Amino acid sequence: MSQDATPDCCKVGRTITSYDLFDFNAELQRRRTTGSSLRGLAEFTNTRVVERALEEASVDLIGDPADIYETLTADEIRPSQRKGLESKLRQQDVDVEQLRSDFVSHQTIKTHLNECLEIDTSRASTVDFERERGTIEWSQARCEKVITQSIDRLQQANELQTGSLHITQTVRVTCADCNRTYKLNDLLEEQTCDCYDRARLGNNTD
Ligand SMILES: [Zn+2]
Ligand SMILES: [Zn+2]
Repeated sequence: MSQDATPDCCKVGRTITSYDLFDFNAELQRRRTTGSSLRGLAEFTNTRVVERALEEASVDLIGDPADIYETLTADEIRPSQRKGLESKLRQQDVDVEQLRSDFVSHQTIKTHLNECLEIDTSRASTVDFERERGTIEWSQARCEKVITQSIDRLQQANELQTGSLHITQTVRVTCADCNRTYKLNDLLEEQTCDCYDRARLGNNTD
């Protein structure tokens, strides 16, 4: 296993060092080999960071590290819920700003794997993933525009009486096999559902 990365190779290396994440490069490599996506690895890393920060602050358990990480970062979390958690953490002497700035992105993980651990994360594919993603984004933007125009007409005709409205639509997809529902954007990032968590994509690591 490549464990040759220096402690300060990049942000991931510094995180491993400062949070004292034991044997973490080997763990990243193992997870990558068994099919974890880059996004999955970033979440795994950040959850470990949260866990360690809670341990260091000797916090009486105020929640599952994965839940805490999600509440701090996920788009769909209500601001009031996030603020509530943040002030709870601060009361327990957790430096929330520091914690947040230590989180790594999936792009940072990719660079760490590619450049520090020399693990190839490219994927051979016959379709152009980015082009398909572009088509999906285009059609979503188009759809939001059409909905917005209709809503505007309804407002002008006084058929809708509201403050100014901002339309966002979230496309959800459900796998009929594992029965899990994903936001389309998440699925495109993750590229696997629960059925394929530990297999298929991204096996060309070495
Ligand atoms: Zn690195
Ligand atoms: Zn599935």
